[in-house]
Amino acid sequence: MKLDILGTGVDSLTKSAVLERIGEYIHGRGSHLIVTVNPEFIMAARHDPEFRHILNTASLAVPDGFGLHFAARRQGQRIAERITGVDLMSEIAALAAREGGRVFLLGARRGIAAGAAYALMQQHPGLDVVGAESGYRRWHRHMTDEKLRAMINRKKPDILFVAFGQVKQEKWLYRNLPLLPTVRVAMGVGGSFDYIAGRVRRAPVWMRRLGLEWLFRLGRQPWRLPRIMTAVVRFLWAVIRLPHNEERL
Ligand code: UDP
Repeated sequence: MKLDILGTGVDSLTKSAVLERIGEYIHGRGSHLIVTVNPEFIMAARHDPEFRHILNTASLAVPDGFGLHFAARRQGQRIAERITGVDLMSEIAALAAREGGRVFLLGARRGIAAGAAYALMQQHPGLDVVGAESGYRRWHRHMTDEKLRAMINRKKPDILFVAFGQVKQEKWLYRNLPLLPTVRVAMGVGGSFDYIAGRVRRAPVWMRRLGLEWLFRLGRQPWRLPRIMTAVVRFLWAVIRLPHNEERL
């Protein structure tokens, strides 16, 4: 089921239904962009028509972030299951290891994509990682999109994970996916390579269960405070102003 949260469509599916769809995408035809929507995405989309269009035309918009539950409930709807981007990336890797699918990791700081590739292959024996390209300095200074695409296309991946930071990675994928003919599934993953490579520690499981991963992240990366607070406060304010509809709960 598709829910509308402040103008952005979000798929309310269980994790197993999401993975089933992704499995079909990997072995089917065409290319599919998967977006992991959090409150910051929704706030950015409200003022950025291109980004809103990208989110609303993605094959799958997975709800990532506790705020989305709150917003859905406020509108008398329910999100079937919350799936964080980093968990989804690991689940897709597990799926690819089981059922086949060549994976390419693009983005993050020097060595991080390779570190994440190594960790994924350890966790999911049989996983076929065909490329890992980090170093965004290089990307900024010398890399054109054309060169990047040629590098990816040479490896013929089925699955592409991109870590360029949110919004930027979705826009890059939207523009470049039509020119990456072997890629069936593409997803922007934000800081996931850093977590998977072990560069950044994730919140303890009890905090993740309570939906407090953002708080933990904030404690470790306090420079994010202004950005997160602006998005969260503005998001909550916008949600609270929505017409309240509890009857359908
Ligand atoms: N990143 C990158 N190129 C950029 C900006 C960011 O490769 O121009 C990487 C960064 O190193 C990190 C990931 O993208 O691994 C996510 O960045 P951040 O956590 O700042 O972004 P968010 O997705 O939370 O906005």
